[in-house]
Amino acid sequence: MSDKPSLLEQLCLDKGMRMTEQRRVIARVLSDSDDHPDVEELYRRSVIIDNRISIATIYRTVRMFEEAGILERHDFRDGRSRYETITEEHHDHLIDVNSGKVLEFHNDEIEVLQRKIAEDLGYRLVDHRMELYAVPIKNKQ
Ligand SMILES: [Zn+2]
Repeated sequence: MSDKPSLLEQLCLDKGMRMTEQRRVIARVLSDSDDHPDVEELYRRSVIIDNRISIATIYRTVRMFEEAGILERHDFRDGRSRYETITEEHHDHLIDVNSGKVLEFHNDEIEVLQRKIAEDLGYRLVDHRMELYAVPIKNKQ
């Protein structure tokens, strides 16, 4: 494994978290994942690097990262929690309900509209979650 800290590891270090070897491995696996893996998938990817890592360690570590505000948990209605590193650039998700595939998108109009809806109700928007559940349009595939 490379000595250079992964993005997630660096975020942990910035927060003053103590990084064990196993936490470093899990942080690297998460940083290298550009999809939205669940705990079982993280476990499969982590044991390739360090076979001493247990699934309980993965559970504990993702919970710790999540509580530290550096990992985001998603529930895409398939009964599994999925994780991704919190990034500077906000994005939303479209979930293909047939295949479970997750697509990321960003739409300025939606962002503006959401802020406006909150303001019209007398609030300043601080966060939101936008999930589109969809099936592929046949003739576009
Ligand atoms: Zn995402």
